[in-house]
Amino acid sequence: MTKEHLYGPYGATDVETALSVGKCGANALWFHGFNPSGFEAAEQAGIYPCVEFKTFRADFEKRPELIPTGADGRPIRYGRLVQGVCLSRSEFVEERLADLAEGMASFRPHGVWLDYLTYAGWFETPDPDLQESCFCPACVEEFCSTERIDATTPDEILSKHGVVWTDHKCRRIDALGRRFAETIRSASSDCIVGIYMCPWTPEEFDGALRRVFAQDYRLLSRWSDVMTPLMYAQKSGRPSRWSRTFMEATPEFVPAGVPVLPILDVLDFPESLIALAASPVEPAGFQLFAGAAAFKDADGRRQIERAIARLEKKT
Ligand SMILES: [Zn+2]
Repeated sequence: MTKEHLYGPYGATDVETALSVGKCGANALWFHGFNPSGFEAAEQAGIYPCVEFKTFRADFEKRPELIPTGADGRPIRYGRLVQGVCLSRSEFVEERLADLAEGMASFRPHGVWLDYLTYAGWFETPDPDLQESCFCPACVEEFCSTERIDATTPDEILSKHGVVWTDHKCRRIDALGRRFAETIRSASSDCIVGIYMCPWTPEEFDGALRRVFAQDYRLLSRWSDVMTPLMYAQKSGRPSRWSRTFMEATPEFVPAGVPVLPILDVLDFPESLIALAASPVEPAGFQLFAGAAAFKDADGRRQIERAIARLEKKT
């Protein structure tokens, strides 16, 4: 990744927000998908356009065939918010890759952040409903043939081959993620590839980072440029200093030299940003989810400017 740190709001594509970004020393605008307005606003403001790209998330009402299967053999439980799909639905994976290729052929983003590059669940909540998946016949067959394991039921897989099952899921996410990265880089070799990460340490929730979501920092950082944990403190029932305590823990599980650039939530602003800027383990910048209002507000800009100055002084 470029040595330059990146700072900016996520979720706005208007010129006014883009212009406010540069006023406080920030330099990037993150927005959903290949949105022409976002590229235009970033260009007008002279800042970097960065795309959040949806990988494994779909409307299950419209695409019920994508719902993963739980250990009880039934479709997984899910609420209003859920990510992850049955990865044996290769037609869906190819659709997402084709969308990405089309976007890259039409625009020149500074970076693309892969979102929902996980197995199924939802982690932006204090009480996550964590469930292992996917035990559909195709996914079980794929596991057994790849790992040369003879198991037929979810119980047998989880009780006798749980470690291999988790490792296998992580490798599957890793291999698919690489295809997204290759699609980005074949269109634009210097485009930054980021990954939005479940914001938990490897131990929390009984190892759910790998066991449920199948995100393995060691594997994913081999082909990506920057890791972006979603540090939404209030939504996750955590204190606003979580951004700092998480950064301080990263040397234990993020390989040395891999940039970590958290996304903070404007609901936790400015406390979580102040905490992040004071972290002795330095982030590679930050995104501020729904942060347009903070950037457009003079007091907000002062807080952001101060945080950026503090982070830049450390480099
Ligand atoms: Zn499946």
